[in-house]
Amino acid sequence: MTSMKHPVYFLLVDDLEENLLSLEALLRRPGLTMLKARSGPEALELLLKYDIALALLDVQMPGMDGFELAELMRGNERTRRVPIIFLTAGLADSQRRFHGYEKGAVDFLHKPIEPDILKSKTDVFFELHLQKQVLAQQRDELRSTYEALQETDRRKDEFLATLAHELRNPLAPVRNGLRLLNMNEQNTEAKNLLEMMDRQVTHLVRLIDDLLDVSRVSNGKIDLRKEPVTARDIITLAVETSQPMIDDGQHSLTVKMPEEDVWLNGDPNRLSQVIANLLTNAAKYTRTKGKIFLSVRIDKEEVVISVTDNGIGIASHMLTQVFELFAQVGNEMAKSQSGLGIGLALVKKLVEMHDGSIIAQSDGLELGSTFIVRLPLLRDHATSSAAAHEVDATASPARPLSILVVDDNIPSAQTTGWMLEMIGHHPTLAHDGIEALETAKKILPQAILLDIGLPGMNGYDICRTLRQNPLFKETLIIAQTGWGQARDKQMAIEAGFDHHLVKPFNFDQLSELLSAKAS
Ligand code: ADP
Repeated sequence: MTSMKHPVYFLLVDDLEENLLSLEALLRRPGLTMLKARSGPEALELLLKYDIALALLDVQMPGMDGFELAELMRGNERTRRVPIIFLTAGLADSQRRFHGYEKGAVDFLHKPIEPDILKSKTDVFFELHLQKQVLAQQRDELRSTYEALQETDRRKDEFLATLAHELRNPLAPVRNGLRLLNMNEQNTEAKNLLEMMDRQVTHLVRLIDDLLDVSRVSNGKIDLRKEPVTARDIITLAVETSQPMIDDGQHSLTVKMPEEDVWLNGDPNRLSQVIANLLTNAAKYTRTKGKIFLSVRIDKEEVVISVTDNGIGIASHMLTQVFELFAQVGNEMAKSQSGLGIGLALVKKLVEMHDGSIIAQSDGLELGSTFIVRLPLLRDHATSSAAAHEVDATASPARPLSILVVDDNIPSAQTTGWMLEMIGHHPTLAHDGIEALETAKKILPQAILLDIGLPGMNGYDICRTLRQNPLFKETLIIAQTGWGQARDKQMAIEAGFDHHLVKPFNFDQLSELLSAKAS
C-alpha cells in the first residue's frame, strides 16, 4: 500500500475522564490519533473539524446523551456517514433502531468493555479508513494524470494546427508560381517537370489540409455544410481528385452505381474527401497495374459505398487499428508508401459526423482490401438540376478589373499579381497597411485582395477603415489568410469582407469571384 500521509482519527466521547483514558489505552496503535470529547457539543465541534474514521459514544451523558448526539450527526452532511459504536450499560439500548443510518454503520458494545471485542470491532474501521485514504489518493493521482494528458493532447492539437498553418503559407506562392511558369512554358520537357512539381505541391497541400482537419475534428471545430447531394456527384469529384494517383500506379478503376440518382444529405466536399481518400489508399497500397473497384448500392435505408483493391491487404488484427490516428501497418510496401497515418482517422470521423459508419475488410496480407462506408439514404428527394451552378472559370473576364493585392509576403503578392494579369486584370501591389490604404485611395480599385496577417495594421483593421469611406462601399474585398476556421470566416465577414479565401487559395475560385464582379 501507498505510504500513509494522514493519521486515522477515532473520536471518543464520554463524560468521565477515567473512561476516556482507559479507552485510549485499549485502542492505542501506530497511525491512530484519538480525539477526546467530554460532552455532545464538544464532540460535534471535533466532528466538524476532523475526518473521523469511527466515533465511540457513551450513551449515558449529562445534557446531550449519546443517542441525541447520533441524531444530530445524522442531520449533518459532513457527519452522517461517520460510523458509530455506542458504549452502553444496559441491553435495552441495543434494541433501539437507528433510522437513516446505513447497515453496519451503528454498533453496540456493552460495559464493562471486553478489550478483545473492542479491538476487533474497531480494527475493522481503522483498516477501512486506511483503504479509503489510499483510494482517495489513487483517485487524485488518476485525476492529475488525466488532466496532464488532456493538457498534452490540447497542446498537440494546437501545435498541429499552428504547424499546418505555418507550412501552408509558403506553399501558396510556390504553387501559383509553378502554374504561372507552366502557362508560359513552350518546352515540353520543362512543362512536364513543372506539372510534376505542381502535383507534388498539391500533394503537400493535401497532407497539410488533412493535418489541419484532423486537429479541427478532434476539437469539434469542423462545420459541415450539409445539403442534398447525389452519390454520383460525390464520386465524380472523388475520382477526379484521386485519378493522378491511380494513373501513377497504372491501375484500372471500375465504378459501378445504380442508374437512378441516389441521394444523401451531406457535405459534398467532405464526402468526396472521404471517398478520394479511400481511392488514394487503394492506389497507394496496391502494386502496379492493380485493380480498384468502387461500387454504390442501396441497402434498406442506407447508401453503401465500397472501395475494393487487389493490393497488399491488411492483417486481421489491424483491421480496426488502421482507423486510429497515426496508425500505420508495418509491412514493407506500406512503409515505402507511408504518409502521416491520419487519412483513415479523418475519414472515420467525417463519416461518423454524417451519422454513418466505416469498416475495413481483408482476407489477409496480399489478398486485397475493402473499405465499406454506410451513410443514411435520403429517400424521395426531388431531383433538381444539379448542373445549374457550373461556372466556366477559364473564360476571360467580361471586363478587366483594377485589383489591389495586399500581402507582406512579397513573392506571394507578386505571383498573385502575375496570375491576375494572366487572366486579364490589372493588379497593383501593396505590402503593408499604410501603403494599402494610400494606394487604395489613389487607384480606387474595383477589387481588393487583402492578407489578414500584416505587420502593424492587420487585414481586419484595413477592411474596417476602407468600409467607413463611402468610396469603398461597393468595392469587392476578399480576405486571404492561412486560417480557415469558421471563427476566422465570421471575423472576416464582421470586418466587412465580401469573401474569405484560405491560402493557398484555389485560383479558379478567385477568378470566379472576380468574374462575377466584372460581369
Ligand atoms: P497513411 O496512408 O497516411 O499511412 P491512413 O490513415 O490513410 O494513413 O492509413 C493507415 C494505414 O492503413 C496505412 O499506413 C496502411 O498501412 C493501411 N491501409 C490503408 N488503406 C489500405 C489499403 N487499401 N490496403 C492496405 N493497407 C491499407
